[in-house]
Amino acid sequence: MHAYQNLLSPYDFGFITLRNRMVMGAMHTRIETLDRPVARQVEFFRERARGEVGLILTGGVAPNLAGRMEEDAPVLEDRRPLEAHRAITAAVHEEGGRIVLQILHAGRYARHPLCVGPTEERAPINACAPRAMTLADIAQTVQAIANSARLAREAGYDGVEIMGSEGYLLNQFTSPRTNTRTDAYGGSFDRRIRFPLETIQAVRAAAGPGFLLVYRISAIDLVEDGMTGEETARFAQRLEQAGVHMLNTGIGWHESAIPTIAACVPRAGWKFAVHPIKRAVSIPVIASNRINTPELGERLLAEGVADFVSMARPLLADPEFARKARQGRPDRINSCIACNQACLDHIFTHRTASCLVNPRAGRELDFPVRKAPSPMRIAVAGGGAAGMAFAVFAAERGHEIVLFEARHTLGGLLDLARRIPGKSEFNETLRYFHVRLAELGVRIELGRRATAAELQQGGFGAVVVATGVAARRPAIDGIDHGKVAYYDEVLSGRRKVGQRVAIIGAGGIAFDTAEYLLAEDDESLDPRQFRKHWGIDASLHSPGGVIAAQPRTAARVIHMLQRGHDKPGARLGKSTGWILKTRLRAANVKMISGAAYRRIDDIGLEYSCQGTTQVLPVDDIIVCAGQVPCDELSPALAASGIPVATIGGARIAAELDAVRAIDEALQLADAFSNGTALPFQPGHTARNP
Ligand code: NAP
Ligand code: SF4
Repeated sequence: MHAYQNLLSPYDFGFITLRNRMVMGAMHTRIETLDRPVARQVEFFRERARGEVGLILTGGVAPNLAGRMEEDAPVLEDRRPLEAHRAITAAVHEEGGRIVLQILHAGRYARHPLCVGPTEERAPINACAPRAMTLADIAQTVQAIANSARLAREAGYDGVEIMGSEGYLLNQFTSPRTNTRTDAYGGSFDRRIRFPLETIQAVRAAAGPGFLLVYRISAIDLVEDGMTGEETARFAQRLEQAGVHMLNTGIGWHESAIPTIAACVPRAGWKFAVHPIKRAVSIPVIASNRINTPELGERLLAEGVADFVSMARPLLADPEFARKARQGRPDRINSCIACNQACLDHIFTHRTASCLVNPRAGRELDFPVRKAPSPMRIAVAGGGAAGMAFAVFAAERGHEIVLFEARHTLGGLLDLARRIPGKSEFNETLRYFHVRLAELGVRIELGRRATAAELQQGGFGAVVVATGVAARRPAIDGIDHGKVAYYDEVLSGRRKVGQRVAIIGAGGIAFDTAEYLLAEDDESLDPRQFRKHWGIDASLHSPGGVIAAQPRTAARVIHMLQRGHDKPGARLGKSTGWILKTRLRAANVKMISGAAYRRIDDIGLEYSCQGTTQVLPVDDIIVCAGQVPCDELSPALAASGIPVATIGGARIAAELDAVRAIDEALQLADAFSNGTALPFQPGHTARNP
């Protein structure tokens, strides 16, 4: 019997069979806005279908101009885009996959002047105010969605998913929070659900039978005045009666102040909201959010929580997720770590989505995996994210790699990051690298700080320097005092820290260090604690599933300082920075901007700010003041004539993160394999992610 017998079992709808219970959830990637948009999307979806996922849901496509999320978002209202869609559906079908088009009307979340909503009330996360929809607007929108569904069928899609969660238009109508209308579409439960039900009817009539109709229902709104669990279950039943074949579940509105997919959310942390829907209906239900391993998917199915599991980001991270599960090789899966750094954070900053652990995502055309015509023997100095990733990418392309790491463990900063509460998913990245390095036959020399002379004489055709960073030592009077520690000493557990702490620096690592010092346990591993902290009602009796939050009591008194005058944490990731800031504020961390450090002594840290001098009597002063590059090798190697390239923090320490480190590793491995000029040597520039 296979370990994933539920997850791998096919599902027969009568008119269509899905090969397993794994669904790639809808994702907005923006790759359609790049050069060669059709070829790019074809390759993106083809790889995922080839990876054996049971069903692919496309990113949201608007049924009309008003419904676009932003001005350049895709629309399907006439035949013009059909050729491109046909290329996508054909590629997926060639690989034995199934694909459903998601139709998304953004409603009051639309960031353009055509924005409409149930009323004129603006969404708290949108600067654009909506125009209140008239009865004629509603009727036209119902027809527009039906028209998109008909066109989707023409384009070869196996069905459509109607987006009714996350606070988009249909969800805005079902919820009393946003629907205060007094006409036939507002007020009572029946009137609020009328718009989606009419939409389903119209879609069925337009698309005809034998076409999969999925509705994405909001399992828990996570906003005040949202639906109760009882209403949601009744709505699910009405959707089933209306002819929906399958219910997908969405968690929380975009304007919710509760994290729903970040790494601090426990894995499968929303199953309590999905299970009641599954119990209420007889059509299949898809569970979603923070499901990133086959074990977890199998467990949810075996427990009867759902019939399918949706994994969106995990399929960005590893297109072969489903195949590796079928092969019984979950250890080979490059797991999504829910960091949001290269997917959502890119989308929120008007870039294209990719993936921290898989920078090929969305760029499959740019970085095909092919064997190098002339494989080389390459030395890699440094076994952090950049070095490990380069070794894997280059070995996959046929090069012989020897990886030198001065420490006795691989991982570099990833090995520290995994210890931070809410970041234990980094363990999966380390596991993945260990498995891949071993199966690709990379020779790993631990505890070996390779010298330039050794590397020159080692018979290598090239050397990659990925020796990382060291914590910056700021020039502050008393910086060598015994109270001073560096973040790596603290996070590695080498340094015990007292009750009163000052942190020098207020960047990403300072926030992580504060989180590490405040948490007595890791809420991401404890769903009950997570719900208590964020005020989530597991009984679903309260409207929106929200109750009063009970933030944890702070384990320490922490002051965090920076010299800059901007708000501390201003440069944290868009999708996760607010979570960190909320948590630290709730724990009474004092954040001080515009500090001029004067001295460190037996009392603590003296600084001046706004013309006054203050002394913080603290037990420990932890330096999180950025990093400096560690590269002792490349000058000597370059002088010797051996091809050398430097990547990651060793190249540029400022604003180093794993996204850049792993991306540079891919670019370099690709260049080694296709004979183009090596990037990351003096005079060469990188291709932007
Ligand atoms: P960082 O974000 O650049 O922050 C460095 C901090 O040190 C700043 O607050 C800076 O503030 C201070 N600083 C710099 N030079 C200093 C000096 N000479 N003396 C005193 N203070 C100094 O760097 P990081 O915290 O080391 O993070 C590294 C990278 O990892 C960043 O790109 C970050 O975005 C990323 N990261 C992100 C997250 C996240 O988003 N959750 C978590 C971890 C890491 P002042 O110059 O104003 O004093
Ligand atoms: Fe997952 Fe992070 Fe990759 Fe996004 S960037 S898909 S959250 S690993």
